[in-house]
Amino acid sequence: MKYIETSSGLWEVVIGLEVHAQIISESKLFSSASTKFGVSPNENVSFVDAALPGVLPVINSFCIDQAIKTGLGLNGSVNLKSYFDRKNYFYADLPQGYQITQFHHPIISGGHVEIETEDGEEKKVCLDHIHIEQDAGKSIHDQGPTKSFIDLNRAGIALMEIVTKPDMRTAEEAASFLRKLRSILRYLKTCDGNMDEGSMRADVNVSLHRPGTEYGTRAEIKNVNSIKFLITAVNYETERQIALLEAGKEVEQETRLFDSSTGKTVGMRSKEDANDYRYFPEPDLPPLILEQSRIDAIRETIPELPDAKAARLQRDYSLSHYDACLISSEKEVADFYERAVVSIDSNENIAKILSNWITGELFALFNKYSTDINNSRISPEHMGELVILIKTDIISGKIAKDVLELMWETGESPSNIVEEKGLRQIVCSDTITESLREVLAQHADKVEEYKNGKDKLFTFFIGQAMKKTQGKANPQMLNEILKKLLSE
Ligand code: ADP
Ligand code: MG
Repeated sequence: MKYIETSSGLWEVVIGLEVHAQIISESKLFSSASTKFGVSPNENVSFVDAALPGVLPVINSFCIDQAIKTGLGLNGSVNLKSYFDRKNYFYADLPQGYQITQFHHPIISGGHVEIETEDGEEKKVCLDHIHIEQDAGKSIHDQGPTKSFIDLNRAGIALMEIVTKPDMRTAEEAASFLRKLRSILRYLKTCDGNMDEGSMRADVNVSLHRPGTEYGTRAEIKNVNSIKFLITAVNYETERQIALLEAGKEVEQETRLFDSSTGKTVGMRSKEDANDYRYFPEPDLPPLILEQSRIDAIRETIPELPDAKAARLQRDYSLSHYDACLISSEKEVADFYERAVVSIDSNENIAKILSNWITGELFALFNKYSTDINNSRISPEHMGELVILIKTDIISGKIAKDVLELMWETGESPSNIVEEKGLRQIVCSDTITESLREVLAQHADKVEEYKNGKDKLFTFFIGQAMKKTQGKANPQMLNEILKKLLSE
């Protein structure tokens, strides 16, 4: 159910996103300055970025290749001819006094991204276009009481603006879109998707209307830089606009800011006093003309993307749809998984357990040590081996968790750890029977209680016997033998 019901009837939310994605490239869009993140202020500034008189922009052809690759990966069509425009406005962190952007004729038209809605349905979110533009610098106001500072490291960095159609209907759909988009861009290696470093941020357009009527007036929330904020901002904006409309007022077409400390959006400027950007064709750059052969060559470099990969994992390894999507959302995780699977002589059952161990226990270790798959201290081959040890009853799942920790600490193979530490599971029924008999003898009173109906004591006996065997008794055998002993 996508509608919101209030006492006055049904409302529908309409959302469209304009996502700014920083292109992965060593140098900027129109200069040779570095794009490295985290360096000292103004370290990466060339004469072009500082807009010294007489300098001219030169198109970085790698950035163009990256935008083409993105367009193809998002099912768009590449325009063989596109242009750059000047968007004029004065701002301290924009030394040129204008931004070079593609306003009228973008490099990519159309495209779409497949998402899954809350009800588990497939949905296509269509793209309007993708254009290329340069980023601005950053004003810094919190370094001194009387001064503001400018850091131009970002000035001139290549951005793609990915503009959707107003196709999303809930905050969760918008979040799914942004997650999927981020995943695809990371597969393509055209944007690293680091929202906390500002490499990806979204302007969020939200409007409300009665189902079946024309779309309402939208408010645009600028620079939302996390998926959590996106959801909060849309929900806040929905409530704000419904309250206005139900009070008989109108929603103003305006730009708003999201305040992450309050979870609210606040008005910034209305359309009436919107800037007149006086766009005109950038005279310092020729039209961007592309050869079809260049586009074809880039198409060849596009890797298997998350949806296709998830479908294949589901087919080849009988993973559930959910697990296949989880594993495929990051290319590095999918690569790790596939290396682990091929390293063992796997059957479907093992492939499934392997995916659970990676997304469950291994991810938990990454969390614990604040790291990720790229810095995993456990190799895919060792992960595969661990699952084989579990599957062949050499160790129990419980012991395997300890072994995994030791693998992380030592880098040793799980088999070595199991042998060295003597962690092999006890599958000898005599040994298990003996430890159980000891437990029952020590707790004769509890055995009485059990026989008088206190069933819960069963797990107590199991726990005691596990302790006696340092957790190494085969749990299933332990259960069966205890049952037998208690019924004697
Ligand atoms: P403009 O050119 O005035 O900025 P666009 O047509 O480019 O408007 O739309 C900008 C963004 O706003 C797009 O992502 C689009 O999907 C979204 N959008 C347009 N109309 C609406 C609406 N009524 N409600 C929500 N989003 C909208
Ligand atoms: Mg726009």
